[in-house]
Amino acid sequence: MTVALNIILLGAPGSGKGTQAEQLCKQLELVHIATGDIFRENLKNKTTLGELAQSYMNLGKLVPDDVTANMVKDRLAEPDVKNGFVLDGFPRTLPQAHALMDIMTKLNNKIKAVIYINVPDEEIVERLSGRRICRSCQKPYHVMFSRPAKEGVCDSCGGELYQRDDDNPTTVRARLSTYHNQTAPLVDYYKKIGILVEIEGQGAVAEVTERTLAAARRIAAQS
Ligand SMILES: [Zn+2]
Repeated sequence: MTVALNIILLGAPGSGKGTQAEQLCKQLELVHIATGDIFRENLKNKTTLGELAQSYMNLGKLVPDDVTANMVKDRLAEPDVKNGFVLDGFPRTLPQAHALMDIMTKLNNKIKAVIYINVPDEEIVERLSGRRICRSCQKPYHVMFSRPAKEGVCDSCGGELYQRDDDNPTTVRARLSTYHNQTAPLVDYYKKIGILVEIEGQGAVAEVTERTLAAARRIAAQS
């Protein structure tokens, strides 16, 4: 069986994972499967799984892993994924990784590689804690990499720029610590089964895209 270019993309919040997923899909004609999108689709279309997830959310509870896993399974069973996909946002934990293995087996399919975009925590703290958003039009800025013409003022609409609570350095470090606790076992797991490819995620977005694409092309070549 030739395995399509089925890729899992791992990366911390602020690693640029979403952007890299989009680039991979565009350049290599893969389908971008983001769990956030799957969730919104199921909620919007009021599927059985969507209603189930909603019932947990209404109670302020976390949606259980098996509900999320079943949504992913339904999505991966659709015909458009047959030429390969980039899975973004799932799995996040080791039990979810095991669930995904079962799903792929049931669908008679396989994960070809796991690309892990590794960015040093301090760089992520710098990226995220420098973010500013316009209160009026939500346009994003960065105090170092994307500054407005006038400090604190939106170029597009003159609105006030502010920092989201999520982006202050203390919160970012806490989010990173949660991420590492959940993800370290995943990285080990995929390393052990020999499908982990690590990319240095430091530096400019375009450079990281080059590295990610090069890695994906190498993976595609080894059939
Ligand atoms: Zn604005």
